[in-house]
Amino acid sequence: MNSSRLNAGRWSLTTFVLGILISTTPVSNALAEGYVNIYSYRQPDLIKPLLDAFTKDTGIKAKIIFAKKGLAERIAAEGMNSPADILLSVGIGKLVGARENGITQAVTNDTINANIPARYRDPEGHWFGVTTRARVIFASKERVEQKAITYEELADPKWKGRICTRSGQHVYSIGLFASLVAHHGAEWTEKWLTDVKANLARKPAGNDRKQVKAIFSGECDIALGNTYYMGKMQTNQKEPVQKEWATSVNVLFPNTEDRGTHVNISGVSLANHAPNKANAIKLLEFLTTTKAQQIYAETNFEYPVRANVPSCKLVGSWGQFKSDEIGLDAIARFRKTASELVDKVGFNQGPSS
Ligand code: FE
Repeated sequence: MNSSRLNAGRWSLTTFVLGILISTTPVSNALAEGYVNIYSYRQPDLIKPLLDAFTKDTGIKAKIIFAKKGLAERIAAEGMNSPADILLSVGIGKLVGARENGITQAVTNDTINANIPARYRDPEGHWFGVTTRARVIFASKERVEQKAITYEELADPKWKGRICTRSGQHVYSIGLFASLVAHHGAEWTEKWLTDVKANLARKPAGNDRKQVKAIFSGECDIALGNTYYMGKMQTNQKEPVQKEWATSVNVLFPNTEDRGTHVNISGVSLANHAPNKANAIKLLEFLTTTKAQQIYAETNFEYPVRANVPSCKLVGSWGQFKSDEIGLDAIARFRKTASELVDKVGFNQGPSS
């Protein structure tokens, strides 16, 4: 469906949907089927296999509006007339932010609560995680011998001129830095950020994959990145050179010897004015099924949130790790402090000399 139709609001959307159903679907099925509208910060390609499986099971068709930014603001601006049923998001910051902006509603659902561990969902039901990802260190196979590492150690002068990372203000960075504030306090984290900044090989820039490219080309030796990007590089048919970037690094899971590696979630919320609420809840339930969790694991190289669903073989080949069990609520609570500290130390200006 095009955006102007979605923009036109609930009633015209309903009219349009009914029009389609009447013309193409037997009346007996029409009541059981319908649509669900998803506003997604995740690429449509990524969630298509999931939504195809959902439609096959339920007859409910999914429509996606994709954008990298501004979807929450759009739902807020659309208000009562928003056609959004579900917001699909990455990072605890965005999920909590959506709740704070009043664009979500609580879901109390036994299936979801049984399938998703409590630490990956909002106690009041405004969001829950569907996958996890670890923020790891990609380390040059040629120039880094150690096989274990900690986030704390990145401040060590032995890494001077050797670290690459994306922007310190990116949600992935902020999630990790907020976890350090939660564990060590703001003062400690400020010093750590200052020292890591001094160890950077260059100004923070580019996405996680570009940091691995920089290791491949010899610009730096270690980089921070999310796990699934390793899988995306290792299997990249469109840009096969990324396979070479991936081959140049090992995945090190920081802090596996102590508190565990920082993990964040991708997750979902029910929009506060969801016009297709019953269908939306069916989709939310579906995303927690073993089948959906397996699809997530296979197509995007993420970790299922359900403990009984294994990660895919390729992901398993990077090694086992322990995840930092600090609550996502703590990460969410300290993200503002983390963001202020990044600015305070001038992290994104890069190393001074
Ligand atoms: Fe990502």
